[in-house]
Amino acid sequence: MSGGFTRESVERVKEAADIVEVVSAHTDLRRSGARYSGLCPFHDERTPSFSVDPAAKLYHCFGCGVGGDVIRFVEEKEGLQFPDAVEALAERFGVEVEREREDPAAEQARKRRSRLGELLERTASFYASFLRESPQAAKARAYLAERGLGEGVLGEFGVGVAPGNWDTVLVRGQRAGYSIEELEASGLVQRSHKGEGHYDRFRSRIVFPVRDARGRVEGFGARALRPDQKPKYVNSPESELYRKRRTLFGIDRARAPIAKAGRAVVVEGYTDVLACHQAGLDDAVAVMGTAITPEQVRTLAAYTDQVVLALDADRSGREAMLRAQTVASGKRVRLRVARLPEGEDPADLLTAGADDERRAAAARFREAIEAAEELPAFHVRTLLADADLSSPAGRDRALDEAVPVIAAMPESITRDELLREVGDRLDADPGLVSRRVAARGRSRAPEARAPERRESAAPAPARSSAGAGAGAAGEGQMSVRERREEALLAMCAALPAYGRGFLDRLTDEHFSSPVAARARAWFEAHLEDPMEGLPREDDEPLWAYVTRVVMRADREPASPEAMEWNYLWLERALVDDRIAAVEREGDGLPVELQRRRGELTQRIAHFESRA
Ligand SMILES: [Zn+2]
Repeated sequence: MSGGFTRESVERVKEAADIVEVVSAHTDLRRSGARYSGLCPFHDERTPSFSVDPAAKLYHCFGCGVGGDVIRFVEEKEGLQFPDAVEALAERFGVEVEREREDPAAEQARKRRSRLGELLERTASFYASFLRESPQAAKARAYLAERGLGEGVLGEFGVGVAPGNWDTVLVRGQRAGYSIEELEASGLVQRSHKGEGHYDRFRSRIVFPVRDARGRVEGFGARALRPDQKPKYVNSPESELYRKRRTLFGIDRARAPIAKAGRAVVVEGYTDVLACHQAGLDDAVAVMGTAITPEQVRTLAAYTDQVVLALDADRSGREAMLRAQTVASGKRVRLRVARLPEGEDPADLLTAGADDERRAAAARFREAIEAAEELPAFHVRTLLADADLSSPAGRDRALDEAVPVIAAMPESITRDELLREVGDRLDADPGLVSRRVAARGRSRAPEARAPERRESAAPAPARSSAGAGAGAAGEGQMSVRERREEALLAMCAALPAYGRGFLDRLTDEHFSSPVAARARAWFEAHLEDPMEGLPREDDEPLWAYVTRVVMRADREPASPEAMEWNYLWLERALVDDRIAAVEREGDGLPVELQRRRGELTQRIAHFESRA
């Protein structure tokens, strides 16, 4: 993952970016010595354990374990992918970035995308100003006001109106130097059925610009203004820029709140998103259709591991959710479903009535979001509610439908409860339901039980858990052994004269994860300047680990005694591993290892008594 930029460019961006300024947008920092500290913007805390080193340009939280450089901070906190974070910082701090040599076809494609993007951008601002200013848009303004959508939120999302003429955008685009082919490729203009002429795709409609995570317009969704206008919605066609299955409306505005809240709320339509944001639910995005797609779950997985679906949960909607569940399990994303009042969408709920009614509706909506049920449980309960339970045949059908859904759930209390619930509702022998589920579980779907594992079972900066403070990788969740491994490496970096000797004595076996073992080798080879030439692009887990160790190195007191003590501790852990292996293999008694263990324990106790 080089992001397509040259390594020098990325270094220049890091050099130019003011990490204190970037971080200060998210938490108040106070100078203390050569560093700044403040409350961690990634987890809830009362006393500051978040530290920024302006010289090394690194941040680290001693509470939850997150850390990295300024680019990583923008990725984590503002929910951007690496290349986008680099570009955003480059723009902000005025750095020219160079791309790695592209092949001519790729370069051409990129330039074309950027040209089409500009066309969409200028058309979006034209539509928006047409909504604000044109007398022709009076009806649209009245409609939106009646829907309870204020100017503030309309402006934020760049909502506009397409004029009624057949060729406004066509003519404007050509005047601005775009070819017919480009206008067609952008989706703004379409060829007439007879194939002779071209005309504007969006006419007399309210248009919602659909943007990518960085806020670049990819396409439009357009809603009819008059009841007789068919169809009700017209969207940009699939194109080089616009992929409906992947896109989430509102992600550009919601990504930072999602990263902060540690949760995303998925609603159905454009006005639902607007209504949610207007009501302060700024972690809401919309799917570009009625069903959520696996691609959209993948997109969201980059920002959070908690997704609440506030979507129409009719049969086909639920089936789409279950398809998305497979991807979600793989990405360790928890999908839940909120029960909304029948037949009402968030836009109706949140924008009707006077101010106090709206506030009450917003509170109820939030409660529904908080009370959202796990998707499989929701699905099973809904199908039980819909089933004909009066006949044995109806109950059999319901059981047939429920079994595969429960079988795909990981073993948990929720799953046990659901099993009992199904037995009760179907008036079935509890053993029967369990046996059916067990038989199903053996025969298929191991993928639902074995989520993708990141290579770094050990410490990597918490990614999706921002806000929740529950980072699998946070220091709080590290084992004692992992903490000692990290502490010893940090001391080696802090006191290289002694560190060298310890790094020599340590082997891969002393470390409980491959990434920690690689970090030892890295420090051995780069002890003088561990951050120099660290290949983040090639080895992200290693980069994250080393970064954290370096941050820790200048903070924690190091001494040869403390190093020896940690070393002995890791040595004993290694001996324990070997004893366990001997016992597992049944290779006789590990007498010699037990003796060695006793000796190490004595030496460790000796150190502890002096401390
Ligand atoms: Zn923290």
